[in-house]
Amino acid sequence: MQDPVQVPSVALDSNQRKRHEEALRESEERFRTLVQFSFDVYWETDAQHRFIRQEFAETLAEPPVAEIGRTRWEVPHLEPDEEGWRKHREMLDAHLPFRDFEHARPTPDGGKRYVSVSGLPVFDETGRFMGYRGVGRHITERKRAEQALIESEARFRTFVDHATDTFMLHSEDGRVLDVNRNACESLGYSRSELVGATASFFDLEIDQATWRINRERIKAGGITTLESRYRRKDGTVFPVEVRMREFCEGGRRQIICLSRDITERKRTAETFREMQAELTHANRAAAMGQVTASVTHELSQPITAMLCNAEAALNWLGSQSPNFERARQALASIVADAKRGGEIIGWIRSLIKKTPAPKESIDVNGAILDVITIARSELLKHGVLIQTDLAPGLPRVEGYRVQLQQVVLNLILNAIEAMNCLDVGGRELRISTAGDASSRVVVAVRDNGPGLDGVIVDRLFEPFYTTKPGGTGMGLSICQSIIEAHGGRLWTGANEPRGAVFQFNLPSQQG
Ligand code: ADP
Repeated sequence: MQDPVQVPSVALDSNQRKRHEEALRESEERFRTLVQFSFDVYWETDAQHRFIRQEFAETLAEPPVAEIGRTRWEVPHLEPDEEGWRKHREMLDAHLPFRDFEHARPTPDGGKRYVSVSGLPVFDETGRFMGYRGVGRHITERKRAEQALIESEARFRTFVDHATDTFMLHSEDGRVLDVNRNACESLGYSRSELVGATASFFDLEIDQATWRINRERIKAGGITTLESRYRRKDGTVFPVEVRMREFCEGGRRQIICLSRDITERKRTAETFREMQAELTHANRAAAMGQVTASVTHELSQPITAMLCNAEAALNWLGSQSPNFERARQALASIVADAKRGGEIIGWIRSLIKKTPAPKESIDVNGAILDVITIARSELLKHGVLIQTDLAPGLPRVEGYRVQLQQVVLNLILNAIEAMNCLDVGGRELRISTAGDASSRVVVAVRDNGPGLDGVIVDRLFEPFYTTKPGGTGMGLSICQSIIEAHGGRLWTGANEPRGAVFQFNLPSQQG
């Protein structure tokens, strides 16, 4: 604010007065010209605060109501309240400058017209208070915009409060600044109990270090989504998915956390996982069922050998001059065959068992050879010629041996079925392994069947998609989920000169 204006009152001679009047007229003209270009209303009041002058542009969109002869508070008004006016009058009576005093007048259509006024007290040369001079401006539009903002914030608050998600606003160091209603309801705390607490008060997975790590992640990636566990006031715990984002308000960095109770989602995922395990097992059992002939053959071989060796041992011992050395050799062979039989039974049992053995370090070539063993008589039965091209010195793979064997078995059985349309003698199956540049082990199963046409390729891995009358359509979808769970990928292609190739890769322990 400038200093109060002093009105000069000097005794003037007529010439001086003329010049002075001329200067005054010019200054008044300049002033009026300025007013015509201004959006402001220029006003003057006397020592009793009654309006004595109001100047404004003729083109002003909303000219002020005539207030001449009345004080500002004698003109009908709506705002501020009595207390507001009292304070304003107190200031005027103290002859103090004022700035941006906002008040509202009623409009004929029942609305409100907001005006903001600023004024300077005027004193004569003796220091006597003469009144005020100042400007006023219509601020209805600005007020409306402010009001809309307040309403929109209130609407947003209502939305946030009624949202089924939990909203929390945190300071940089993890302290809770604000929460919505759902945060209180789901955690069982009142707002005042939560505001001011750190996140670790209810979040079981968070401490200062994790909070810092999360903040780094937010800085790097914008929005961060993580899973955590919240503890209610009554001690019960529930899983949540938390989305965090940082934003800046009034120069202060804040973190907004939106969390959602995922108990139901977790339960569904668990049921789905169990169902998938059941299906995987059922598929394995079905595949095993198809190769029972091989299994029987594999077992009957050592049993027959054991029988022969037992008879031989009996002969060596029962003769007139028993040959103990030969009998010992026959018995040693029985032990070896019994071991081999036991191994086969153990292995088949592991294939059939519901819960597979724990993860292990797998020699992929060895696992494939075992599968070929049990599929052998199925291959023979269909007249399929099998070739293997297994790369020596492959790095080992970590995973579930039985599940990977299930994938190979499924691919072999599919290939056998696909080649049924060919004449016996022309059915060829080739299984190869190789290591790739990124230390992954790649397994390929090739056949020279009809191959995969475009329509089939797009749907092969869909659950329940089958082109076979008795098919389940689950084989390839299960194979895909097994390979992906091992961190690998399963894909198909065309074999040269004809047929299909199914390939998968697996990360090796070396990689
Ligand atoms: P299913 O064997 O019960 O049909 P899969 O998921 O194992 O289920 O296979 C889905 C479909 O993919 C098969 O019905 C078949 O049409 C096609 N398919 C699978 N393997 C081959 C292959 N080696 N050659 C041609 N088509 C194949």
